[in-house]
Amino acid sequence: MSEELTIFDDIEFCVVGYFKRYIQSFRKLLGNRVVDVLLHMPSRVVEKVYLDSLSREYIGKIVTAKIKVDCVDAGARRTSSVVVYGRSGAVPVEIRLFNYKKYYARRAYRPNEEVFVSGKLGESMSGMLQFINPEKLKDEDAAELKTGFYNIYPLTAGVTQTGVYSATNNALKILSVASPTEWIPGELIEKNEFPSFYEALRKIHQPKEFVKFQLSAVSRRRICFDELLAEQLALRLANRKTKEGNVVKNEKTLVKKLLNILSFSLTDSQRKVIEEIFADLKSGKPMARLLQGDVGSGKTIVAIITALYVIESGYQCAILAPTEILARQHYAVIGKYLEELGIQIELLTSNDKGKRRKEILNNVENATVKVLVGTHAIIMEKVNFQNLGLVIVDEQHRFGVSQRLRLINKGNFPHVLSMTATPIPRTIVMSLYGDISVSTISEKPIGRKDIITKAIPLMKISSVVDFVKRIIENGQKAYWVCPLIEESEKLQYACVINRFDYLKNYFGDGVAMLHGKMKSAEKQDVFERFKTGDCHILVSTTVVEVGVDVSNASAIIIENAEKFGLAQLHQLRGRVGRSDVQSYCILLYDHGLTEIAKKRLNIMRESADGFFIAEQDLLLRGGGEVLGTKQSGRKTYKTFDMNEPNNQPYLLTLLKQASELATKIVDSDDIKKYETLLKIFSIDSVKDFKQSF
Ligand code: ADP
Ligand code: MG
Repeated sequence: MSEELTIFDDIEFCVVGYFKRYIQSFRKLLGNRVVDVLLHMPSRVVEKVYLDSLSREYIGKIVTAKIKVDCVDAGARRTSSVVVYGRSGAVPVEIRLFNYKKYYARRAYRPNEEVFVSGKLGESMSGMLQFINPEKLKDEDAAELKTGFYNIYPLTAGVTQTGVYSATNNALKILSVASPTEWIPGELIEKNEFPSFYEALRKIHQPKEFVKFQLSAVSRRRICFDELLAEQLALRLANRKTKEGNVVKNEKTLVKKLLNILSFSLTDSQRKVIEEIFADLKSGKPMARLLQGDVGSGKTIVAIITALYVIESGYQCAILAPTEILARQHYAVIGKYLEELGIQIELLTSNDKGKRRKEILNNVENATVKVLVGTHAIIMEKVNFQNLGLVIVDEQHRFGVSQRLRLINKGNFPHVLSMTATPIPRTIVMSLYGDISVSTISEKPIGRKDIITKAIPLMKISSVVDFVKRIIENGQKAYWVCPLIEESEKLQYACVINRFDYLKNYFGDGVAMLHGKMKSAEKQDVFERFKTGDCHILVSTTVVEVGVDVSNASAIIIENAEKFGLAQLHQLRGRVGRSDVQSYCILLYDHGLTEIAKKRLNIMRESADGFFIAEQDLLLRGGGEVLGTKQSGRKTYKTFDMNEPNNQPYLLTLLKQASELATKIVDSDDIKKYETLLKIFSIDSVKDFKQSF
C-alpha cells in the first residue's frame, strides 16, 4: 500500500486480493471511496469465543479457532473456490474460500502451519465443521484478536463479514497515515470527551468493549456529530441569509394578468403567504422559505405567482419535483397559465436525450426559457442558466440537502421556496432545513367537502367493488392503491398485478395499472388515460402518493392500509377531494390488526386535518421520537439510526451543538477549514462553496 493514498481514493485500494466482481459488490454496499468503508457502521457488537479445539456445539456461533493446515485444494478452474483442509485439536475442519485469488489463498494457508481464523462456524454438506471466508488473523495480532469483541455489519449479497473486516482494517491504515486536521474546536472536544476522527473510527471498527446501543459509545457520538455538523453546514450554505440577494421589485403586471385569467379567487391564506414571500423577495437578502400547506390547499398557484413576480424582474426560475409524473403535471398545469401570458416554459427529465435535450439546454442558457421544470435531471446534468433568480423545490423533504445545494449553486444566491404537504414540527424543520422561515396555508379552497373515510375488512372486498362501480357510473374516477407491485414470498400484501387482473375481470378495459417498474412512456400514457381518457380505475403503487392532481377522481381505495403510516395515508387520501364533488377514501385492512394499526385507522376516519394527524403520528410512535424519519420522509443518516429511541437524548444535544457551531463557522466565513468534512459526507458542491465565500 502506497503512502500517498488518501481516504478519498478508490475503494479498490482497501479490498485487496479479491476478484473484480467482488469489488463491485463492495461498491454496491459501501460506496466508491476508502472513507465510505469507514462510514459503514456496524449494526451491533458481539462477543467472540476462542476455542483451542472446535466442537459441534459451537455451530452457528462466531468463534476464533487455532487450525493446523493439512492441505490446500485450489480446484481446477480459475474461479472455483479454494478449500483448505485442516484440524482443530483432533477435529477435522474445512475452510472454504470463495472469490479468492488462488495465489493469495496459497500464501495465507500453508500445509503444516498453524493459523488463527475467526468467523461463523458452520457445517459442510458432508457434515464436516466448516468456515466460509473466515477472517485470518495475523500471527502477531492473534493473541489480542482471538477473543474479545466482534462487529456485525449490514451486508448485501456477495459481501461477507470478513470481507468488511479486512476492508475496514485496510481503510483504517490509510486513514492513519493521512489523518485529517481536527475540525471540531478544542472546547467541544473536551466537553464531549470526543476522540479524534481516526481514533473514533478505529474504536468503532476494532471494538474492545460491548456497546449497548449506537450512541452509548463516545466514538459513535463523535462520528454522529461530524455527520450532523456537515449537514448543518450544508443547510446554512443553502440558506445563506447573510449574503446579498437579488432585489425583486416591480409593477406585478404579470401577477395581475394571471389573477385575471384565474377561474377562482385566492383564499385569504394563499394571499397571506404570497405577501410573506413578496416581502422576502424585496428584502435584498436571498429568500429561504418553507411553504407548508395540507394536500389540496393550493400550493401550486402560490408557486406560479412567485415565479411570475421574479420573472418580471428579468430572472429565470427552476422548479424541482421528486417524480417524473409530478414534474409533468407541473409542466402541464403551470404551462397552461404561462402560455396565456406568453412566457416560455420547458420540461427536462432524464428521458430527454440527444437533439431535444440540447435544444432545451440551449434555450435555458440563452434565457429564452424562463421556467424550467424537471426532476433530478436538472441538478445532475449540465444545465446552465443565464440568470437563475428563483428555485422552487416541491415536496421538498424528498430531496437531500446536497441535491438542493447543487441546484441553488446554478444561480447567484437565488431565492429559494420549498414546498411541503407534510407538516413538520419545528425541531425537525431545524434538522432538515436549518434556519428557515415558514409560511403556512391553513385553509382549503371553499366549497371542498370533507372526504368520507371508511375502514373495511378485506373480506368485504366485493362490496367495495360495487361501490367503485357506482362511482364510475357517476362519471367519476377511482384510485386503487396496493403496497406491492407483484406477489412476494416474504410479504403477504396485495399487489398491483393481481388486483389489476381481478378488477379487469369485472370492469374490463376501464382499468389500468401504474407502477415504478414500467417504462416512462408507458407510465405517462396510462396516467394521461386516467386523467382525461377512457381509464376509470387506476391500480397503482404509492407512486401516486405525491402531488398528483386529477380533479374528477373522487374515490381512493388503499389496500393493506394497516401497513402504511399516518402521514402516508393522509398524503394518499389527498389525491381525492380536489373538486366540489363528495369524495371517499376506503381503507381496506387484512385480519389481525395490531393495536397501533387500529388506532391509526381510527384517526384517519376521524380527522381530515394534516397537522392533527402528524401530531397523533408522533404520539403513537412515542414522545421520545423527536426526529422521526418516517414522519418527515427524509433519508436516513449514514452513521446512526435516528429512529432508535435510546439514541434520542444524545441526538438532540449533538444536533444543538452542531447547529450552533455551524452558524458560527458560516458567520466567520471559516468554511474552507471544513471542506474535508463536507467531502467525507459527500456534500460535493465544495467547489461552488469556494466561489460563494
Ligand atoms: P397542493 O397544495 O396539494 O399542491 P394544488 O396546488 O395541486 O394543491 O391544488 C389543488 C387544486 O385546487 C388544484 O386543482 C387547484 O387548481 C385548485 N385551487 C387552488 N387554489 C384554489 C382556490 N383558491 N380556489 C379554488 N381552487 C383552488
Ligand atoms: Mg402539490
